[in-house]
Amino acid sequence: MGIAQNLQSLLADIAQRAQAVGRNPESIRLVAVSKTHPVSAIAEAFAAGQGLFGENRVQELCTKQPELPPEIQWHLIGSLQTNKVKYIAPFVSLIHSVDSEKLLQEIDRRAQQNGRIQDVLIQVNISSEDQKSGVEPETLSDLLTRAAAYPHTRVRGLMGMASFTGESTKIRSEFRLLRSLQQGIAGPELPANVTLEELSMGMSGDYPIAIEEGATLLRIGTAVFGAR
Ligand SMILES: *Cc1c(COP(=O)(O)O)cnc(C)c1O
Repeated sequence: MGIAQNLQSLLADIAQRAQAVGRNPESIRLVAVSKTHPVSAIAEAFAAGQGLFGENRVQELCTKQPELPPEIQWHLIGSLQTNKVKYIAPFVSLIHSVDSEKLLQEIDRRAQQNGRIQDVLIQVNISSEDQKSGVEPETLSDLLTRAAAYPHTRVRGLMGMASFTGESTKIRSEFRLLRSLQQGIAGPELPANVTLEELSMGMSGDYPIAIEEGATLLRIGTAVFGAR
């Protein structure tokens, strides 16, 4: 199957699964994860109507972005070092992987230099596998409170990656944790630049569970572009 057909069937499947649990399909956006795939594949997906893409490495993102239509929205979904923020600050529409105040501070500084308000998500470590990155659930509310000091950023929500396992009960409980953190923390006491409406969770192997558990951003690569 080609990329256009993959996209069409994936979007239909997402919509159907959303409706099955009483959700509006329009409340869920597909981030087509294009890492390792050539710009020709991204151009093909764009021509088929996909406007939002995710890359996990700064250098790859910065090589591809100028070669593709400027209407494309780019999300950075992989871990980000402070010294690389400057390269993506002019154009990236959402950074999914903020995991420290130091990074938030640098993003804020570069956003200000570029005359932008930078949307970000806080990545939370929801899996029991300790090599996964993200802030620990216990420190999340502290970081969100500190976000008040960085008015050129807006914390739009949370991102999480489930354990790499076939155990759907485990994956579900990890996604549920992310949602409960979002619901438990949201409230009037949050800084004005912390809105928390987005939940970025679900990849090719586990997006059906993520839809059921409230994801608003699905990060899907393989099911769109094929195996890497
Ligand atoms: C690669 C990647 C994905 C997409 O993975 P697939 O299994 O190909 O859908 C999602 N999120 C992150 C952070 C990734 O690095």
